[in-house]
Amino acid sequence: MLNEEKSGSAGIQDPVCGMEIKDIFKAEKTDYKGKIYYFCSNDCKNKFQQSSEKYLKKDDEHMGHHHH
Ligand SMILES: [Zn+2]
Repeated sequence: MLNEEKSGSAGIQDPVCGMEIKDIFKAEKTDYKGKIYYFCSNDCKNKFQQSSEKYLKKDDEHMGHHHH
């Protein structure tokens, strides 16, 4: 696998649209439950703040893929 590409960066993603955040200094950010999240735009940040759980849940669904 392409390990070297990931190992250097933190692999930060916009949890709303899934876009990779390449420049965290320019990105919008917010903290939720003590963790900082970055966004590609103010729009995504607003969406996240309105329904954080929904966007964070998306990840869980991938992990526990129990569908028959
Ligand atoms: Zn986004």
